[in-house]
Amino acid sequence: MLNDCIFCAILAGEIPSSKVYEDEYVFAFRDINPQAPVHILVVPKKHIPCALDIDADNAVYTAKCFEAIAKIAKAEGLEKGFRVVNNCGEDGGQSVMHLHFHLIGGRKFAEKII
Ligand code: AMP
Ligand code: ZN
Repeated sequence: MLNDCIFCAILAGEIPSSKVYEDEYVFAFRDINPQAPVHILVVPKKHIPCALDIDADNAVYTAKCFEAIAKIAKAEGLEKGFRVVNNCGEDGGQSVMHLHFHLIGGRKFAEKII
């Protein structure tokens, strides 16, 4: 493993994943512990630790993640809507320190976020 990052290991093919989408900037796969009928992790193909590390030099990766989210949501039949979640840092409850966006859907969520 290049570093201790589990998502970098998935990107390198060292750990198997259930891939749903891939392009030059983005890799997306099903969460191993789904919280909804559809729960996909959308991950930049660059080790950006968390949302605090997004800057002008790497912002294209985040933009491409959201382009991918729109494509994946349509492919997964989520035209009625979905939720995108990013946990950042200790207070945000982030457990894997490689930037990722949870695309969750397939059921109706409460209006309150938490
Ligand atoms: P977070 O708490 O926002 O850092 O989210 C990390 C997510 O990664 C959790 O929802 C885990 O279930 C998920 N996860 C951890 N390891 C794997 C794995 N090997 N394959 C798929 N999802 C994983
Ligand atoms: Zn990583």
